[in-house]
Amino acid sequence: MSVRWRMQGSRQWLTGLWAGALDLALPPACAGCMAPVHASHALCEPCDRRLPRLAVQTCALCQAVPVPPAEDAGAELCAHCDFLRSPLTACLAAASFSGDVASWIHRFKYPRSGLGGLDPAPRSVVDALVMEAADRVVGPLPDLVVPVPLHPSRLRARGFNPAGLLARAVARENGLRFDPVALRRLRATESQTGLDRDARRNNVRGAFRTQRRWRAPSCVWVLDDVVTTGSTLSECAHALRRAGATTVIGICAARTLGTDWVRSDPGGTGLGRTGLDGSRSESEPAR
Ligand SMILES: [Zn+2]
Ligand SMILES: [Zn+2]
Repeated sequence: MSVRWRMQGSRQWLTGLWAGALDLALPPACAGCMAPVHASHALCEPCDRRLPRLAVQTCALCQAVPVPPAEDAGAELCAHCDFLRSPLTACLAAASFSGDVASWIHRFKYPRSGLGGLDPAPRSVVDALVMEAADRVVGPLPDLVVPVPLHPSRLRARGFNPAGLLARAVARENGLRFDPVALRRLRATESQTGLDRDARRNNVRGAFRTQRRWRAPSCVWVLDDVVTTGSTLSECAHALRRAGATTVIGICAARTLGTDWVRSDPGGTGLGRTGLDGSRSESEPAR
């Protein structure tokens, strides 16, 4: 144990030295404009201020309606979300999926082919946003962090699961258990782009299962990059609750506000609502 600890300690010391040397050679720069920044910041202050962050003290599910501060578990809901009886205890994002945030997320998910891999600049910004969303959770940390899974065929085609990268980053930052395969996507669902609320719900209905004979711990966070109607995260929450979870919280970098937040209870009445501003949801990729 102590040898292992010493090895880890020396590795961290070496990593620190290496990082220090790298900082001298390549000083940390803003991912947006290349201005010098502190090593712990992805963006400089002006670039950061352009991100359309969401208000705090809003409903823990829709983040659109102001509610009094939560006293426990961060699950104060507006009257409408309370009525929906979502399988999600809460669903929290850091920013609105618009403006600079939408373009950062697009660059993170669809890196230019010439890069030969992920683009580190958008990755650092989206990582920072999802950490902020996780910091908005009121209550204890979860027992497990899982990503919204891609279907294996989509994973092969894309080469990485954006939600998986975010889930791993959040777990590592908070010292939490991470399981990328606890949830499975049973079928490669169609793109959610252009689908209305009911079609989105039907598209992902029953699309997720946990691994056979796997028991979920009590509290689980499910990570995704963007939440629109909530149908995908709600289906994941159903699967985790069937496996024994009692609290499931969705954590996302960004969300569309005023969207058709849905009730996706497979046996339910399909109650939902039109967007607060009457708008249609923005695009969500095929997975
Ligand atoms: Zn900048
Ligand atoms: Zn609400």
